[in-house]
Amino acid sequence: MKSLRARLLLGFGILFTAALGAFGALAYLLVAHGSSSDLDDLLKTKLFIAKQQSDFRKTGAVASLEQALDVDRGGFFLQFFGPDGTPAGKSAKLVNPFPLSEATRLAAADRGDAVLEDTVDGKGNAVRIATASRYEMFDRSRPLLGFVQVGVPLAARDARLHSLLKWMLIVGPLVLLTALGMGWLHIGRWLGALATVEDTARRISAATLSRQRVFVAPGDAELARLAHSFNELLDRLEASYATQQRFVADASHEMRTPLTVLRGEIEVALRRPRSPGEYQEVLNSSREEIERLSRLVENLLTLASADAGEGLAQRESVELAALAREVATALAPAAEAKRIALSVSADQAAEVHGDRCGLARVLTNLIENAIRYSPNEESVRVRVIAEADWTVVEISDTGPGIAPEHLPHIFERFYRVDKARSRDLGGAGLGLSIVKALVESHGGTVEVKSRLGHGTVFAVRLPKAPTAVS
Ligand code: ADP
Repeated sequence: MKSLRARLLLGFGILFTAALGAFGALAYLLVAHGSSSDLDDLLKTKLFIAKQQSDFRKTGAVASLEQALDVDRGGFFLQFFGPDGTPAGKSAKLVNPFPLSEATRLAAADRGDAVLEDTVDGKGNAVRIATASRYEMFDRSRPLLGFVQVGVPLAARDARLHSLLKWMLIVGPLVLLTALGMGWLHIGRWLGALATVEDTARRISAATLSRQRVFVAPGDAELARLAHSFNELLDRLEASYATQQRFVADASHEMRTPLTVLRGEIEVALRRPRSPGEYQEVLNSSREEIERLSRLVENLLTLASADAGEGLAQRESVELAALAREVATALAPAAEAKRIALSVSADQAAEVHGDRCGLARVLTNLIENAIRYSPNEESVRVRVIAEADWTVVEISDTGPGIAPEHLPHIFERFYRVDKARSRDLGGAGLGLSIVKALVESHGGTVEVKSRLGHGTVFAVRLPKAPTAVS
């Protein structure tokens, strides 16, 4: 069977039919058993009353007893027998009396209560008969007076059961058909909503990502949740696609500027013959632009590999205080050139587990920024603090600070507070985004606090290296 709808309905139909059949069979058996035992109770009650009739051999006794027992309702009949089983009286309506069998006679003579048995009349109709013995003074040590029988044709009971069965066989399939119809509609509605999700998924492309969303009518909580999750997935995809597009546009733009400068300078130089000194000047300027381009490409590659989580494979134990001192020593000439006091302090050894080059890059970018954006004769401090589970490196400067409106954006790619100044200083707005990507790839965080005119503090928190288990 092809369609999921038909398969689901078939499964539902089989289960529902089995449940309905089991319920119907149980109900029928309970009713059949109940009506048989009700009939037996009635037979025994009537037999008990009939037994009280001591003079059953008298003429007219049967008729008056029949009246007392209201035998006409239900078609009951009476029979009396002598102690040896010879017929002694019977209901007038009983045309063909039932003989008292030897076995029944002996069983009834032997027992105080009724002997119940099923038999058939001359026409083959089922009859149930209750037989009891009657002793003088109801004392079984005294002489046996005879036997009393109350019988009833089972046709009425069987007709009731047949009619019940007939109704069950009519109503059961109707209930089944109604359930299948409703099942068909419901399954169709659910699968319709799934088809909408599938249809949307199929129609999505980069260009239509922002326009395609799934709508499900309220009322079906599960389907609404599925649609909601699917739409959230599309939102996330759209956001990351937009970031990616912006990144590519920004990167292209950043590359175009040095290339345009390069081409312009070369074109101007080639317009007429130049002296060797002039060519040298153009070449020097070109080299600067090429260096800027190389730095940009290198930064883009670092970001791409940090995003992809590369470099994490080469993790080792890195002592951050020693690394901070190494980076500070490498940047000392730049600090000295601006007469900036650069200091590193650490309470104790602070080990983290990570990529040494990546962590050196983090510290270099932050210390370099602090030196680069601070005016002459300010100070830059690096503090390594060991906390219980974290190692914190704080890079603080007494520079110009960052205005509050820029603070939330400075970790974004290509974001620069003062574009012209930052470019003159050699930055493309990627330094802090590289710091963020590298720190996060180490499971850490980076925060910034700054007061305009007072300085800036960057705090890098990295998880401590786990102690080796011997
Ligand atoms: P860039 O490569 O331009 O330096 P970054 O991502 O490193 O880009 O920094 C983003 C911006 O944050 C810079 O343009 C700069 O204005 C600001 N900034 C970063 N560090 C500091 C600092 N220590 N003091 C003041 N401003 C800073």
